[in-house]
Amino acid sequence: MNVNDSEFIEGQLEAMGYKLTKDMNLADIVILNTCCVRKQVEEKIYSTAGIIQQIKNIRPDLIFIICGCLAQKEKENFIKRIPMVDMILGPSQASSFAMLLNEYLEKREKLVVCNNKIPFNLKGIPIKYSHPIKAYVQIMKGCNNFCSYCVVPYTRGPEESRPTEEILAEIRHLVDHHYKEILLLGQNVNSFGNHSANHDSFLTLLNKVNKIEGIERVRFITSHPKDFHLDLIQVIKESKKICEHIHLPLQSGSDRILKKMNRQYDMQQYYTIINHIRKQIPDASITTDVMVGFPGETEGDFERTMQAFKNIQYDSAYTFIYSNRENTLSSLFNNQIDLSVKKQRLWRLIDLQRRISAIKNKAMAGQIVEILVEDKSKKGIDNQFWGKTRTNKVAVFNAENGSSDNDYLIGQLVNIKIIDADAYTLFGEFINVKTK
Ligand code: SAH
Ligand code: SF4
Repeated sequence: MNVNDSEFIEGQLEAMGYKLTKDMNLADIVILNTCCVRKQVEEKIYSTAGIIQQIKNIRPDLIFIICGCLAQKEKENFIKRIPMVDMILGPSQASSFAMLLNEYLEKREKLVVCNNKIPFNLKGIPIKYSHPIKAYVQIMKGCNNFCSYCVVPYTRGPEESRPTEEILAEIRHLVDHHYKEILLLGQNVNSFGNHSANHDSFLTLLNKVNKIEGIERVRFITSHPKDFHLDLIQVIKESKKICEHIHLPLQSGSDRILKKMNRQYDMQQYYTIINHIRKQIPDASITTDVMVGFPGETEGDFERTMQAFKNIQYDSAYTFIYSNRENTLSSLFNNQIDLSVKKQRLWRLIDLQRRISAIKNKAMAGQIVEILVEDKSKKGIDNQFWGKTRTNKVAVFNAENGSSDNDYLIGQLVNIKIIDADAYTLFGEFINVKTK
């Protein structure tokens, strides 16, 4: 979501005549777009601000802007501890960035706007997509779920859905610019449209997106298990474009902890969804987010998470150490877990998942899979490219020998044969470019 906000900010700056530089020494404006889901970012901001201060000492005209969730949450501290900051903007201000910058340029007075209750409107806001063939498309903002550990509902405000027509128009525009893949973004896509009458549901939106000619792949994140409609599985199965990948955050395998997290589902409900997916789309990949060391998590609770991982056999998982965030309910809970215990649990879980991922990936040897080629190999190996499968796995492959320039493959859908794999990557050989 933050990357997408940055794309809107960059788009507006470009429309004002600015150009992106990654060298702060050359910049007229330095922008830190921040996330505060986990605590480490906070410390980074203060150290980066120190570097910016040095540049500002030489060039006082340099405009320094902090925006995003951390700005929303920490504005008072930033004003006190980083007095030279020129603008502090909350995440909901990404869409009015140009207007606010112009206001600052006119008055040259510190501007602090962190209002997450403004209506959600992205219509006509310039955007600079950061990737040439795949793009994020925001379908919702905010969150109403108040999981007890999470800052998002406080920083991004209440849930609101974008009008379907606007979403479809953005996707059609992307097709016109040769985009192949889109990722529909929302904190809880399953509740798309739930908060206003006359709004399409998520399933209706997917059906409409699936009908757009020219887009090859459609993905979405994130599905909250409590709102996951089992009909969604059928929609994925029947639509050609929606990829067979479901990201379904588990957070914990213990009912007791799920309750304390206010996740509003239990393991039985979670398994019901998993079983339906496995039955209806056996080749679908399933990935998750999980946390270790939530306050009061016992060894028994953690073992339940390990057991859930063994039972479910995820393709991959984002594993997090629970991080205490101010203002969240769980920061007030007793029995905070020692960092050493959290780290030890994290490594056990990562190690388990690494073994599961490796076994699952290796079992794909011999299969022919479709890859959307993203770029040349990151290791710079001649004639080697990488891309992702429909199931969102990274695949590296060697293109045809004998041809010196295979760069035409970038942005194409190709078939490759899997030869080998490890926990994180599939290795294959090029077969052909996919024809329609
Ligand atoms: N809306 C998404 C998640 C957004 S935050 C959902 O509900 O799935 C992305 C992930 O960060 C969460 O799934 C969670 O695993 C992790 N996370 C959120 N708050 C956290 C915290 N306080 N400590 C550690 N991890 C956290
Ligand atoms: Fe945070 Fe829960 Fe909302 Fe996800 S659903 S953003 S974890 S409050």
